[in-house]
Amino acid sequence: MSNRVVEGRMVTPKRLAELVEGEAPLEAESIEDAEMDCPECGENVISVGYMPSVTEFVTAYKCQECSWSDTDR
Ligand SMILES: [Zn+2]
Repeated sequence: MSNRVVEGRMVTPKRLAELVEGEAPLEAESIEDAEMDCPECGENVISVGYMPSVTEFVTAYKCQECSWSDTDR
């Protein structure tokens, strides 16, 4: 587990994936730095790989400071 602060709240990898996906994933990997700046506010972006279903693996990107998010779908 690698909890991180997102928009002022501590989140787990699964919670971070849920914030981006809208539903809780089956599994989520550790949260990592995405090594990019948010296109909306310029702050740090983190990423998490997760499985929304048994046949799909998605990487989500989420700004730590604002509501911006994206996935590699
Ligand atoms: Zn941002």
